[in-house]
This record gives sequence, C-alpha cells and structure tokens, in this order.
Amino acid sequence: MQLHLLSWPEVETYLKKSKTILIPIGSTEQHGPTGLMGTDAICAEVIGRRAGEDAGILVAPTFNVGQAQHHMAFPGTMTLRPSTMIAAMVDWARSLAHHGFERLYWLNGHGGNIATMTAAFSEIYHAGSLSDAKGARLVCRMRNWWELPGVGDTCRQFFPVGEGHHATPSEISVTYYAYPKAQKQAALEPKIAPFGPINDAADYRRRFPDGRIGSDPSQANPEAGEKIVAAAVRAVVEELRTFSEEKA
Ligand SMILES: [Zn+2]
Repeated sequence: MQLHLLSWPEVETYLKKSKTILIPIGSTEQHGPTGLMGTDAICAEVIGRRAGEDAGILVAPTFNVGQAQHHMAFPGTMTLRPSTMIAAMVDWARSLAHHGFERLYWLNGHGGNIATMTAAFSEIYHAGSLSDAKGARLVCRMRNWWELPGVGDTCRQFFPVGEGHHATPSEISVTYYAYPKAQKQAALEPKIAPFGPINDAADYRRRFPDGRIGSDPSQANPEAGEKIVAAAVRAVVEELRTFSEEKA
C-alpha cells in the first residue's frame, strides 16, 4: 500500500484503522564503480514497500536525497544541506500529522543521514513540547535497515569477507535483486578497498579513488539480495506492529 498510488478517499479510510506510515529515506550518491547511485534510497524503498504490504501499513514516497556532501567529488551525487534536510523532514512530518498520522516510521538506508535525522526529530518534537495542547503526540522512529534483527547475520553468511563500510556487497545485492537489469561489472583494484576516515569530498576521493570503503562489491548478486530483503522485511513487519500499538 503506497501513498502515491491511493486516492484521497482511500487515505481517509486508511486513517480510520491506522495512524502509522512508513517513510523510506536514503540518499543519491556514488556507490563505487558497480553500485547504483540510488543504492541507499532503493534499499530502504524495496524493504519498506514489501514490509508495508505484509503488515498492511501505508508507505510514503521515498525521501531519496540526503546527506552526501563527502561523495560530491563523484559525478551524479546529490546532497542536501543539513538545514535543508531538517526543514524538509519537518514539513513532511507536519503534512502527514495534519491529516491525522501519529506514528512515522522512518526506514533509513544511509548512515550519513543519522545525525541530521536525529536533529530533525528534535525539531519535529519541539513544537509539541512547547505547546499546551494535550492528546496524542506525533512519534517518530528511525530504523537503519542494516541493523534490523537477523539482517547482519544474513549479510555475514553471504559475505564473510569484504563487506566493508561503503558500496558493500550486501546493499548492492539488494539493488541487484530489485533491478536485475541494472547490474554492472567493472575491474576492482584493489579487490578489497581500503578503510579510513571520511572528511570532505576532495579528501574522500584522494583516499578512496573509486568510491568504495573497505568493500568488495564484486561479490554482490540478486540471490543474496533476495535473502537479505526477506530478513529485513520480517523484522520491519514485527517492529511496525509494536510501534503502531505503542501509547504516545
Ligand atoms: Zn550505501
């Protein structure tokens, strides 16, 4: 059940039985020579939509550009300033709350978003905390898909070596499962990319010339992606159930 595929009467009917909505949130940024620009948004979207289907929970449009300034030395990367992202998240949340949504489950696909999302939640809560209005309050939850119960074990099973930190075989497998025709091949040298700190965009490209950090994404395959998605969906469905029932 996806918001952009419903009519307004269908949304009105939905709100009579549930106040919960899942919002996939990610990034549009380089993911090495074989990874798709949309990897972080696609992972959250694929898992989120499937989980919404299984749990009977509405899924919002994907918030698909995030915090990616450190990837800007690679063509195609798009980024929001933290202040822009906070403002946009607040407006998304206010719009949904205006119609009666009370539980926003933000399924995140990008580690670089975490700090800004946390700040956005503070901004979203700020108005309620300073008002005298009683009654149900908006509740936001952030979940990083790779930290869901069962997902790490599944990823390690397929990729015990070369998972790394960026352009990982796990996330790229999820996108290859979702878009098998978009699979890419490229010579990777070295086979496993180096690890190191992340600073600004130029420094990133100097340290990690092909965009990968610590990973060997040549291992990525749709079959692994299917299993990783299945594990993540199971966990999200479970969390949506308890999150929807929690008292504000
Ligand atoms: Zn990623």
